[in-house]
Amino acid sequence: MRRIPRGRRTAIAATVLTLTLALASGGALANAAPDETEPTATTVRQYEVDGVATAVERTDLARTGTAIDEVRDSSVVITTDQAHAERLAELGYRLTALTAPSVRGDDFRIAAPEDYHTYAEALATVDQLEAGYPDLVSSQVIGESYEGRDIVAVKVSANVTVDEDEPEVLFTANQHAREHLTVEMALYTLGELTSQYGTDPEITALLDSREVWVIPTVNPDGKIYDQESGSFRSWRKNRQPNAGSSAIGTDLNRNWAYEWGCCGGSSSSPSSDTYRGSGPESGPETAVVADFVRGRVVGGEQQITAHIDFHTYGELVLWPYGYTYSDTAPGLTADDAAAFEALGTELADTNGYTPQQSSDLYITDGSINDWLWADQGIFSFTFEMYPTSQLGGGFYPPGSVIDRETSRNREAVLTLLDYADCAYRAAGLEAEYCAS
Ligand SMILES: [Zn+2]
Repeated sequence: MRRIPRGRRTAIAATVLTLTLALASGGALANAAPDETEPTATTVRQYEVDGVATAVERTDLARTGTAIDEVRDSSVVITTDQAHAERLAELGYRLTALTAPSVRGDDFRIAAPEDYHTYAEALATVDQLEAGYPDLVSSQVIGESYEGRDIVAVKVSANVTVDEDEPEVLFTANQHAREHLTVEMALYTLGELTSQYGTDPEITALLDSREVWVIPTVNPDGKIYDQESGSFRSWRKNRQPNAGSSAIGTDLNRNWAYEWGCCGGSSSSPSSDTYRGSGPESGPETAVVADFVRGRVVGGEQQITAHIDFHTYGELVLWPYGYTYSDTAPGLTADDAAAFEALGTELADTNGYTPQQSSDLYITDGSINDWLWADQGIFSFTFEMYPTSQLGGGFYPPGSVIDRETSRNREAVLTLLDYADCAYRAAGLEAEYCAS
């Protein structure tokens, strides 16, 4: 795992202080570089919105096109620009601007951009693993982002060059640009599986009997835009222009082709952080990953059985459906729901996250979890990683927590791999669904 060289700590501290001062004086994370002239760059910051306490109330707020960062007991935290904040105030919402987390001595509460692997560094790490473990690791470019960057899938398995008849598990990260900790999670997973194969009996057995796919960044354009201008921009979407609008970007996790735009869980406005795109899979990145998943149908059977999509933040384990409050719905039986809840709860028991159906938070439509389950029959979870709160650094926790917060999910990852042969086993339903 990457460590920050000692000599850079002072520079990082200075950067954090500058950022903190900018925030305290009314600036924001989205401040562009001095030579930045892009007209669509707007200033955003986090606000607490009071009196939003139930899933229905949160969904009502989300229907205004607001992306909800954090759910509190009787409020939520959002990131938005001043214009949208004023519009929400006109609608009667009570907003309080939040200041960024402070720096306490050597205890960094927020990150500097260099705390996280860049896109190029992430791909270089993949290349190193592939070179170091040629029998275990094989990467492939599965398509390109809007701006033409490679989207890479990494396969890890014993006899990796052979497509063996083994259950497959998919891990995806970084659909949302600013959620850099999720890329670290993907790289941690790759590093752990490779370095521990042949040493750790559990990992050895799992890689002998499973095929693992990791897509370290689904949204490279967004990641670079958020990370590589000198300060974070709190960017969420991809970087695809929208016809008839100066606003950039589609929320990839509202762009999947199941019940797309059905239920008030996404926005039709290109300026919204939850813009669902012009149609299902209109985002090139969504289409690339969806095509990859469809390509794992072999002999009429989807080989991928289980999946985690890593996000930040909130420390949650979420499962489908997101588009409806109902526990069961077309394509999701009571037994399916029981398996999701049992497995999701077991995963959460390993890392201390809170397990729940996605729509317990608020309605989302066009999410990857709903599509992977309904269209492909894959037990698909979302992990919202560290922290629980904006006070812990929000989307930008410091690099000092990366090792702790990625290894925190080690057991969950291995548990999901273990259940890849029969997720229904988590609910004691293997005789009904997995007998062969
Ligand atoms: Zn996210």
